Amino acid sequence: MKKVLIANRGEIALRILRACKKLGLATVAVHSDVDAGLRHVSLADESVCIGPGPAAQSYLNQAEILLAAKLTGADTIHPGYGFLSENANFAQAVEEAGLIFIGPPSSAIRRMGDKVSAKKAMLHANVPCVPGSGDALSGNGKEAEDLAEAIGYPVIIKASGGGGGRGMRVVRSKAELASGIAMTQEEAGRAFGNPEVYLEKFLEHPRHIEIQVLADSHGNAVWLGERDCSMQRRHQKVIEESPAPGVPRVAIEKVGELCAKACVEIGYRGAGTFEFLYENGEFFFIEMNTRVQVEHPVTELVTGVDIVAEQLKIARGETLSFTQKDIQFTGHAIECRINAENPENFRPSPGMVSKWIAPGGPGIRVESHLYSGYTVPSSYDSLVAKLLAHGDTRDEAIARMQVALDEVHLEGIESNVPLHQRLMKDGGFVDGGFDIHYLERRLQTLEQSK
Ligand code: ADP
Repeated sequence: MKKVLIANRGEIALRILRACKKLGLATVAVHSDVDAGLRHVSLADESVCIGPGPAAQSYLNQAEILLAAKLTGADTIHPGYGFLSENANFAQAVEEAGLIFIGPPSSAIRRMGDKVSAKKAMLHANVPCVPGSGDALSGNGKEAEDLAEAIGYPVIIKASGGGGGRGMRVVRSKAELASGIAMTQEEAGRAFGNPEVYLEKFLEHPRHIEIQVLADSHGNAVWLGERDCSMQRRHQKVIEESPAPGVPRVAIEKVGELCAKACVEIGYRGAGTFEFLYENGEFFFIEMNTRVQVEHPVTELVTGVDIVAEQLKIARGETLSFTQKDIQFTGHAIECRINAENPENFRPSPGMVSKWIAPGGPGIRVESHLYSGYTVPSSYDSLVAKLLAHGDTRDEAIARMQVALDEVHLEGIESNVPLHQRLMKDGGFVDGGFDIHYLERRLQTLEQSK
């Protein structure tokens, strides 16, 4: 591995570039024509414009990205998160072109990308899953009725090929079941090209807790603790933290060990995340993300492990340089996702950043591609910065985050910083242990009290 093509944009492209440079690897930035001004494009050794603004014609254009790798002599492709990162066909095309794909083998992406086969693999590895149909539902309505009766209403119908919070429907009674299944199948066929659906228990007040793992290609796997990502709006994470407040360490250790073992069992390689719903003291697997996640720095702050550098080292065939017992968890870390959006109605707020001054100080980390004079395009995700605070305790991390949020100076576009400032003082947040619906409920009461 000598030259890495970064098939992404924004803050994660910059993060990957930094890890490559640290390891002495040459870098190629690929970008759309509205992204020529991105920070990592000017810092990379080479850059290639791969198409117009719309992602389908640039960041999702597999042929163009492979061509850019060929033209620049890049031997490795890092897909980041989103875009092509969990596209098994792309990973396979990269493998077939004789290049290194930063991620697990395409076969593992394919297996974990299908929710039914992922769940089967996890059940086989003794990872606890939400009770439900082990298989896709057959055409027999009676089977689904019996199953729903046995696990108890409410149930949720989910598309095997679903993703991004789409292809799911909650059913609260037998009367709604058959039509619920039919509608979800129909939608799934249209949206994901796969009408297969399955059924599981709908948990009413779960928390979202995930386990970060790293596995090398020599049969070693470790887990790097958990992240509590329960603060969500429309299935989008807003704040993440580690450790998860109030969850017994023994419970985390138990599920963490199972995840590391599952990695070995499924032949996993690279960084990955096992996502769980956590309710009444129990963990239930929902899906695996076979890539680096937005919130990975939370784990980096509490473990000191450079996850992106580890991804690169694993991909070039190195053995993990540490074992589970070397991993120490220190203090508490919180991440606020700063989006270019109106803090009240959440409408995107693209445009020119006339001034950006990032916060700093002890325990503060900023991951952002912003600079004064940069224009946030309207074509992509609105995430413009990740602000992280680390402290000896959760209280200290919150206090540092409050100071840092007050220091953010962002002019020209709107951002959700005011929302984060409010949340850092919100009783429910400060107490910790809120469920995944907390933020939406809170936003509703704020709306009503206006
Ligand atoms: P996606 O791949 O679309 O993100 P997930 O399986 O990760 O789908 O589920 C997305 C979200 O849907 C979860 O974070 C949770 O909020 C909700 N969800 C999924 N399954 C259940 C369930 N069994 N009970 C309650 N909520 C669920």
